[in-house]
Amino acid sequence: MSNDKCSSVGIIGAGIQGVCIGLQLLKKNIPTTIFDHNDPGTMASYGNAGHFSPYAVLQLNRPDVLYDVPKMLFSSSGPLALKWNYIPKMLPWIFHYLKNCNKKSMMHTAKYMHQILNHSMDAYEEIFQEIDTTNLVEQRGIIYVWTNKNLKSRNLEIKVRNELGIKQKILTVKEILDLEPNIKPVFTGGCFYDYAYHARDPKGILKKIFDLYIQKGGKFLKENVKSLKQSKINETSIETEKKIYKFEKSVVACGAFSKQLTDQLGENIPLDTERGYHVHFKGMENLIKRPIIFLDRGFGLTPMNQGLRAVGTVELGGLKNPPSKKRIEYIVNCSKELLPQLKNHEDEWLGFRPTLPDFLPVIGPSKNSKNIIYAFGHHHLGWTLGAITGKIVAGLLNNEKTNLDLSGYNSSRFN
Ligand SMILES: Cc1cc2nc3c(=O)[nH]c(=O)nc-3n(C[C@H](O)[C@H](O)[C@H](O)COP(=O)(O)OP(=O)(O)OC[C@H]3O[C@@H](n4cnc5c(N)ncnc54)[C@H](O)[C@@H]3O)c2cc1C
Repeated sequence: MSNDKCSSVGIIGAGIQGVCIGLQLLKKNIPTTIFDHNDPGTMASYGNAGHFSPYAVLQLNRPDVLYDVPKMLFSSSGPLALKWNYIPKMLPWIFHYLKNCNKKSMMHTAKYMHQILNHSMDAYEEIFQEIDTTNLVEQRGIIYVWTNKNLKSRNLEIKVRNELGIKQKILTVKEILDLEPNIKPVFTGGCFYDYAYHARDPKGILKKIFDLYIQKGGKFLKENVKSLKQSKINETSIETEKKIYKFEKSVVACGAFSKQLTDQLGENIPLDTERGYHVHFKGMENLIKRPIIFLDRGFGLTPMNQGLRAVGTVELGGLKNPPSKKRIEYIVNCSKELLPQLKNHEDEWLGFRPTLPDFLPVIGPSKNSKNIIYAFGHHHLGWTLGAITGKIVAGLLNNEKTNLDLSGYNSSRFN
């Protein structure tokens, strides 16, 4: 570690990344203030499926997925949908995405995802020792099921995970039904990660981490950040609707909303959003014991304290379009296909996964302002990666050396 200890940090965003970064900074005795115009854990970090998925190294930038995309987009009842009015704005993202849908990029993403996913649960374990997770976190494994429809893709996933030494157990239909007797066997096989944890209440967990941050002396300001800049060699300025605050260093951890700030810093990072939805079937959470994901349908069920949470689909449509009723119907129909006993749903919710077109997050210094660190773009895995991102980013802010190769997450990859 270098001798120059950081004197103060401002973090923009109180999602799981921002709160975990804040906690790690306080452990290093660095005075920290988190800004958010919402209460902590209101956006994607609230409504996700709650899976801790350290095995999920393969993302959607794959040649096999690319082949299926056009037919999925033109079907209104598939796992992928488009808001057509948003296409012109999304062209840069689509352009970069297409460039990354090849085997080399797929494996590059898998390698760099694996590196941080591999440390993700150790980083959470450390935090879980300091907070009471009773009724909030369970370790009952996570099941994936599939039909014969996309077996080539399933085989590719199994092969890559084997190559990377990731533990996985392939299951027959009977073995799946032994674990989850209430689901209808509308699938032909599956995979079990028996060591995986899930959240029964992501917001409840985040709130506990946030409370620990406050107990350790962290500050929180419920203010909307309008702009951010490096004002002097060792000073950054965060301007909210109320006032301008100065810190030695600042962090952008605004999830899918980070682009408005990075654009101001003169970097054209092609961050966009994959919209996802959830609904709750209240009182039905005991129908299954653990999360089940139906891969061909792009949706899953998680037993949570709020009810059985049905989560999923990817909709490309930006941050401003209204929610789509059709997407909700799709999730509800998929849920009833697996569990025909389900009836009424509540709490329709739309959330924004922050996604870069190569499906790697941006973790590291801004290209033009070295005292500003980025921590966003964790796409489908931002819940899993919160604690490890906290450790990495706090280390960077404290000028610590790391054994991790962080080059794959640098924003300069888009220049
Ligand atoms: C449907 C769905 C299911 C998912 N399931 C899983 C899963 O099972 N497992 C998993 O690992 N991941 C999952 N994810 C992904 C995960 O939820 C996200 O990647 C993660 O929550 C992103 O965290 P974040 O802190 O970067 O962003 P967010 O949680 O979105 O937080 C960003 C914060 O920044 C604040 N903010 C934005 N702009 C400003 C501003 N100008 N000033 C002040 N504050 C600002 C926002 O109010 C917000 O609170 C899922 C996501 C979705 C949508």
